[in-house]
Amino acid sequence: AKQTGRSNYQFYTPELDRRIEQALSVEARLRDAIGSDGLELHYQPVIDLKNGKVVGAEALLRLTGAFLDMGPDRFIPIAESAGLIGRLGEWVAIQACQQHVQWLRQGMTMTIAINVSPLQFRQRSFIDRLSEIIADTGMDPRHLEIEVTESAIMENVEDAVRILTRLKALGVKVALDDFGTGYSSLSSLTSLPLDKLKVDQSFVRRIERDEASRTVTEAIIGLGRSLRLNVHGEGIESEDALLYLEEHGCNQAQGYWFSKPLRAAEFTRWYHEQWEK
Ligand code: C2E
Ligand code: CA
Ligand code: CA
Ligand code: CA
Repeated sequence: AKQTGRSNYQFYTPELDRRIEQALSVEARLRDAIGSDGLELHYQPVIDLKNGKVVGAEALLRLTGAFLDMGPDRFIPIAESAGLIGRLGEWVAIQACQQHVQWLRQGMTMTIAINVSPLQFRQRSFIDRLSEIIADTGMDPRHLEIEVTESAIMENVEDAVRILTRLKALGVKVALDDFGTGYSSLSSLTSLPLDKLKVDQSFVRRIERDEASRTVTEAIIGLGRSLRLNVHGEGIESEDALLYLEEHGCNQAQGYWFSKPLRAAEFTRWYHEQWEK
């Protein structure tokens, strides 16, 4: 290899080589997966804290086969930089809407939430494609919730307001995900057409151990309630965390304490067991 300078040369470590190689093979795999059956949605139950019943599901993307244990935290960024996030996001929306329609036919009433990456959120075609998918699948948009992270919104609040306003015009619900980590200004928060705040897991998971996390959690719940938003706690892993959120006025909850994300068939079973309790 040609040596153009010591600092350049140092970047090419075996570790970096491995990472680039892996990213490239993940990229190739993602390309294949979209057209074949290499992708799967898992569904994590969302619980209403008023009655303890399941009222929703968050769809979480999984790769099947060779990259089975690679989580979306790893492969979504690769999809973004490979220009695949638009198609991946469409696949998720179609799949989730079809599943919801099927569940509704079986008498399962609930909302379904999908995650939208910051890049996908700002793509020109995003709203039009979503609108088509809703029409094509026969999805009732009032039961569809779009999760966008706080940091994606705060990147450019003016643009975000425009996009969110168009989203709301489709009749869907909008949730601000990972809330509490993205340095929102309070004034911009009031200008956003939102339905829900999802308190970031990093606070919820430390509720029992860490007073600062309790303080932040309470502040977020208070903020959400005063803006008349639903407040949703995620990452609930213990009964104590659940009781704490309940007591402090949180509306909805999600976490391993209730259930991990499940395959569609497992979710169906879980749902019925819950309602029969
Ligand atoms: P997120 O949207 O914050 O999703 C919640 C993550 O926390 C999920 O991880 C879920 O399995 C995990 N989780 C839920 N309850 C608990 C708990 O009690 N304890 C712990 N330790 N973890 C819990 P997952 O499925 O690995 O997804 C990671 C992230 O990848 C998601 O974070 C989301 O940002 C992104 N993601 C997942 N699916 C999609 C997708 O279809 N599209 C896009 N753009 N992003 C996705
Ligand atoms: Ca989410
Ligand atoms: Ca989250
Ligand atoms: Ca996250």
